[in-house]
Amino acid sequence: MMAQYIEIKATYPDALLFYRMGDFYELFFGDAETASRALGIALTKRGKHLGEDIPMCGVPVHASDDYLQRLITLGYRVAVCEQVEDPAEAKKRGSKSVVKRDVTRLVTPGTITEDNLLDPGNANVLATLARVRGGGGGGGGETPDSGGDQYALAAIDISTGVFVLAQSTAEQLSADIARLAPRELVVPDRLFDEDSLRMLFETLNCVVQPQPSAIFDSTRAAQNIQQFYGVSTLDGFGSFSRVELAAINAAISYVEKTQIGERPPLARPSRNESSQVVYIDAATRTNLELIQTLSGSRDGALLNTIDRTVSGSGARLMAQRLANPLTDVEAVVARHDEVAFLLLQEELRDAMRQNLKAMPDLLRALSRLSLNRGGPRDLISIQRGLATAGSLMELIGQHVIDLPANLQFGLSCLEDTPQELAAFLTNLLDEEVPLQARDGNFVRTGFDTDLDEQRQLSNESKRVIAGLQASYSDETQVKNLKIRHNNVLGYFIEVTALNAAALEADKERFIHRQTMANAMRFTTTELADLESKIANAAGKGLQLELAHFEDARTRVLEQTQTLQAIAWALAEMDVAAALAELAQEQGYVRPTIDDSLAFEVIAGRHPVVEQALRKQGANPFVANDCTIGGTDAGKLWLLTGPNMGGKSTFLRQNALIVILAQMGSFVPAGSAHIGIVDRLFSRVGAADDLARGRSTFMVEMVETAAILNQAGSHSLVILDEIGRGTATFDGLSIAWAALEHLHEINHCRTLFATHYHELTALSKPLDRLSNVTLSVKEWDGNVVFLHEVIEGTADRSYGIQVARLAGLPDKVVQRARGVLDQLENQNRERPASTLIDDLPLFSAVQAEPKPTDTTATKLQEKLDAISPDELTPREALELLYELKSGQ
Ligand code: ATP
Repeated sequence: MMAQYIEIKATYPDALLFYRMGDFYELFFGDAETASRALGIALTKRGKHLGEDIPMCGVPVHASDDYLQRLITLGYRVAVCEQVEDPAEAKKRGSKSVVKRDVTRLVTPGTITEDNLLDPGNANVLATLARVRGGGGGGGGETPDSGGDQYALAAIDISTGVFVLAQSTAEQLSADIARLAPRELVVPDRLFDEDSLRMLFETLNCVVQPQPSAIFDSTRAAQNIQQFYGVSTLDGFGSFSRVELAAINAAISYVEKTQIGERPPLARPSRNESSQVVYIDAATRTNLELIQTLSGSRDGALLNTIDRTVSGSGARLMAQRLANPLTDVEAVVARHDEVAFLLLQEELRDAMRQNLKAMPDLLRALSRLSLNRGGPRDLISIQRGLATAGSLMELIGQHVIDLPANLQFGLSCLEDTPQELAAFLTNLLDEEVPLQARDGNFVRTGFDTDLDEQRQLSNESKRVIAGLQASYSDETQVKNLKIRHNNVLGYFIEVTALNAAALEADKERFIHRQTMANAMRFTTTELADLESKIANAAGKGLQLELAHFEDARTRVLEQTQTLQAIAWALAEMDVAAALAELAQEQGYVRPTIDDSLAFEVIAGRHPVVEQALRKQGANPFVANDCTIGGTDAGKLWLLTGPNMGGKSTFLRQNALIVILAQMGSFVPAGSAHIGIVDRLFSRVGAADDLARGRSTFMVEMVETAAILNQAGSHSLVILDEIGRGTATFDGLSIAWAALEHLHEINHCRTLFATHYHELTALSKPLDRLSNVTLSVKEWDGNVVFLHEVIEGTADRSYGIQVARLAGLPDKVVQRARGVLDQLENQNRERPASTLIDDLPLFSAVQAEPKPTDTTATKLQEKLDAISPDELTPREALELLYELKSGQ
């Protein structure tokens, strides 16, 4: 057995080998050590190899999914090795023969299909990355760089069959990977070892899997693709470039390698051109917290805030749309039409959502069935999915007038519902069915008379057994005589040890089988006969059920493409209805979208902060306008204002409104007119990237450089506090120059928030730059943030007030005020360092508790002297006048 293990393991050196032994998957040697550490399970040993103990650990087969999930989440790959013959067959070859085993599946993060390993609302994307070098060369990249390298990404989800393709460039690669959000990225091993790419791979939030460059071979790609799809030519697929062919070939080869002979129902690769979607680089995506927050939680991210879908496939599509806002006006408008229609048709929307809520995950069931990993519950999912399609078809069909194009198209997909298949499945399947076909009992009574007969036989025999128990009990006068069943003995008679004598008296009839501590077990020829009848009937019944399952599976798979189209149509309807629901619930409006350079958001709100404030029962969100559109070039708004005033919120809300509008949603605003944004850049927040050897300031400058180099007239740029990570004058100078560059060269619509109030002077020379600020009220020494964006400039940042609110010790706040006073009053010509002479050190101030603000002290002393209980109202009033006049 060990020899067999070692031979199989040699083929999968970089995966943990789950070796099937009875009811366990066992792991040996290094695999056992790794898995026991990762899973926290006991490490034992079994036998010896080359004189050393063999480490071993195991997981029970019935609970193996949990363990698989944990290992995969940690980034391991698992090769599942099953027994591929009946042990009886092995015995025929000799008593010491080992049962044949083989790896039936390689489980990797990007290739799982089980429901309990997958998140219903999340796509599970596997991507491959291919490169063809500028001067030609192989998919693996062998020739030296001669400029213009081409990259392609093929992204598939084998749990749903989605297959998209994206061309890319070295500059856009990280943005494109972030957009596709793979869980596993397969790259040629040569690329994996290249320094520049390795740096990129290290920042990705997914497992990067190097594979031999041979699977990226574009020359054999066409042949492999044809074979995979069972077609004789690729003409119907559209034309692919060499680098795309290489990426597709790698995706298909990797699927074949991991699924070992089984084929997921992959759709034909379709292009997801980066030119059709808004370019959002990885940093912007992260900063805007679209799918998850900076701390990695989904709560508080935009997706969670706006997602009102009711089905898993709807939720996945919503996430995909949010990650890929469109740049094509017509396509965006078509989506808005659909939302507008469903917003008005409230009754239809409610009915649709009610039906969609009960819909199972058709695509994932289909995928499991085609990978031969499905069971009766997957057939039920198909059947119920088809039933949902039927109901929706009827519902929407009643609204023939004014049906928007997208809904019309969805309806036409539903009209292709294979009614015969739906009826067949309904007749075939029981209401409650087991997970696995081998457990039987899923075919409805009345579907197959043969099967019904076998079931009756087996049921009747069970009744006969019950009768036998009563008659044996009578005969032997043993009241508590029982007929029981287990897998080892089959049916047997069991009596307590005390009553055994009554049965032993008739040895001819009651044949002894087993003596237990307190019981004795017997059988009779009658019982044995019955048992074999029951077993036969059950065996025959199961065979019949399995044949029906296979037949149903084949019928379903014959309709793969139609079923996929139906499932996608249903997901789209779920998304459209969900966006209409959101618009109604949150008071969102339809934005006007066109090809202009307009940007007129009136009374815009931040979708996430607005809902959060409402949940907390806090003051409502203050809506603000943003008008940075222009006829030939965008305007720049320079935003100054107090800390905590709402600058970042305002910046982000406008970026999020663009994303929502262009993904097809209504937006949180009074009204909005947006000329399509083709690139969205943000530089907000500061984070260092120590893993890549970049300090906070370096990261900030890399991101700023990307914006200044790439932003164009159709871009939207939001910049928050550029230059904060360095010395004041360095930072100010960089921010100054960046602002001028954006105005003169980039010509993009820009929001620029800063604490460098000096920059507001730039509104004179730069004609498209306007100064806006967030209003505050000062009251009794406190600041009140009004969160209103108004024209003008802020004269100060109120940093010290905010610091006091944050709980900085009073002494530090007082001291900071003192320093600030001095700094503000000092002779501007004089270097700040000379202030040290005027400002004795903090400890000195502490030792000499003479406060700097004498008015406040006098006031305090007077207040201390007052005893309110002893004052007449008139005295109190007089005192108040006195205090107010500062005497
Ligand atoms: P800093 O300069 O310190 O980074 P900021 O000006 O960027 O501050 P934000 O972080 O945008 O301020 O906002 C601070 C808080 O104010 C937010 O967490 C939010 O709760 C609240 N806030 C911001 N804008 C609004 C608004 N328009 N209406 C209501 N509350 C708001």
